[in-house]
Amino acid sequence: MRIDAHTQNAFGCTSGAWTIWSLSDGHVDLPASLLQDPEGGPQDATSSGAMVRLSVNCFLIQHEGGDPTLIDCGAGGSWHDTMGHLGRAFAEAGLSPASLRTLLFTHAHSDHIHGLVSRAGGETFPNLTRLLIPEAAIATFDAEAGLSRFRRLLTPIRDGDAVVPGVHAVALPGHAAGHTGYRLDTGEETILICGDIVHVPARQFARPSLTWAYDDDQATARTTRLRVLADAAATGTWLAGAHLGRPGMGQVRRVGDAYGFDVAGQVR
Ligand SMILES: [Zn+2]
Repeated sequence: MRIDAHTQNAFGCTSGAWTIWSLSDGHVDLPASLLQDPEGGPQDATSSGAMVRLSVNCFLIQHEGGDPTLIDCGAGGSWHDTMGHLGRAFAEAGLSPASLRTLLFTHAHSDHIHGLVSRAGGETFPNLTRLLIPEAAIATFDAEAGLSRFRRLLTPIRDGDAVVPGVHAVALPGHAAGHTGYRLDTGEETILICGDIVHVPARQFARPSLTWAYDDDQATARTTRLRVLADAAATGTWLAGAHLGRPGMGQVRRVGDAYGFDVAGQVR
């Protein structure tokens, strides 16, 4: 993997014939108490009142000569104003939102789909022709107002589907209805764009049994996280995650019973 660009909000690299961008939509600060121990209580009583900062990343992948595909699109104006800044990252990367015809979603939480609509209410990506979304996430897609205009573009996908050439859907159950990752095999590396299997990398790689209060099914989310981390450490698969910090791409290393995360572009 070769790093091509690294600005404040845009990180670009090349692997085989693929270009991969990690684009920041911003961040959100949330109570550390949302991290919970396997018994369901707060994970650390001494940290009550403490906050953790979650990155909000989107990933754009493009095969040489092919169309770009964006995976998740941030929060738009739906949540804290520390998010909804994907346009800034596009500009830093020299990318145009108008170039996108296909978006992929990992799940239908607001920080992943509401970037379809700008803070001013307009359409962020004016030339969309399809929105690929896990079938089980469709029912939750426009639970919040403002997205019904996009329903006609929704295209359901299932575990194992080849969603675009070279990219396969991988069910990663537990966090949200239909939660799905996308595995990109570049010929040089395998990169799993893994959605929300980890929310607080500084805590959950070292203690992967910690769950996140916003996981719909805590036990299943934990099982999925443990399985993905074990597999990534064993196979050298790269992880690219919305909430894995910046740039949110790296490789997993086993450390005793837990894991470390070697972030792309940083010397260990
Ligand atoms: Zn999320």
